[in-house]
Amino acid sequence: MASDGKTVTGIKTESGETLTADIVVVNADLVYAYNNLFPQTTPSSTKSYANSLTKRAGSCSSISFYWSLSQKIPELQTHNIFLADEYRESFDAIFDRQSIPHEPSFYVNVPSRVDPTAAPEGKEAIVILVPVGHLQNTRTTSPSTPGLPAELDWPALITSVRKSIIRIIETRTSCASIEPLITNEITNSPLSWESEFNLSKGSILGLSHSFFNVLAFRPQTRAKGLKNCYFVGASTHPGTGVPIVLAGAKITTAQVLDDLGMEKPWGKGSLFEILHPEKSHT
Ligand SMILES: Cc1cc2nc3c(=O)[nH]c(=O)nc-3n(C[C@H](O)[C@H](O)[C@H](O)COP(=O)(O)OP(=O)(O)OC[C@H]3O[C@@H](n4cnc5c(N)ncnc54)[C@H](O)[C@@H]3O)c2cc1C
Repeated sequence: MASDGKTVTGIKTESGETLTADIVVVNADLVYAYNNLFPQTTPSSTKSYANSLTKRAGSCSSISFYWSLSQKIPELQTHNIFLADEYRESFDAIFDRQSIPHEPSFYVNVPSRVDPTAAPEGKEAIVILVPVGHLQNTRTTSPSTPGLPAELDWPALITSVRKSIIRIIETRTSCASIEPLITNEITNSPLSWESEFNLSKGSILGLSHSFFNVLAFRPQTRAKGLKNCYFVGASTHPGTGVPIVLAGAKITTAQVLDDLGMEKPWGKGSLFEILHPEKSHT
């Protein structure tokens, strides 16, 4: 981000180009952005706020598998949830101990069941989401500080979770052997959610909705210590998840327009009425 120390003046791209702007709205993960995208010249109070954000409760992470299968698995529905027998224990492992349950609970989505473009005819596309704990540390803010809790051996855990979920799907649905059907595979884990998608600690929903992360406690949409810089997205006000994030974008838009002394195009009506004027009169 480019700034004169107090006010944002634009952004710097990876290639080193500076794009000037009157305002900047940040959509990247808020915790990551405060710690990695803000200019070095921000006041020390902003830097300590950025550091404090890394200590806040994060949401869970996931190990996600994306498979192309050479044939359909009719035993699976579009949406499938496989709950561990000890599901209470499995949620404690994720949310209290930031680890992986001994027996995972997971969600299997088969997009090709409802969308014929998701896979060639007769074949299947499958997405598997295994909720797991987030990383103990942020890679970007605390590289190898002594005394930090050790990370789990994620590559080994991914291999073991993959074996478990294949076994569970096969056993519970009596479907054909899955392994020989996998023709292409992409995997995401807490490590890649952080390194490729810039999600602090690999928390897939950003900051959690724990008590001290909601309402007045949630990081504000106006950036701290940097004028004309705003946030949208999961970790800012009002919260995470696609519907809330979309509603939040309207809050930020209203704030920007208020700060610029500009009229809101939706007047007193709702965003729905602007987008669908034909329906708003019925
Ligand atoms: C596996 C998974 C499953 C989920 N399931 C659900 C669900 O079922 N229901 C639900 O409501 N929510 C779900 N979520 C959460 C939901 O996707 C998020 O809450 C929501 O997308 C967050 O919106 P956002 O705008 O904050 O982030 P995003 O939509 O991720 O947008 C952030 C953008 O910032 C960009 N970016 C990152 N770093 C930089 C940078 N340095 N410079 C420029 N741009 C950058 C990224 O490329 C990305 O385009 C899920 C998330 C994951 C990962």
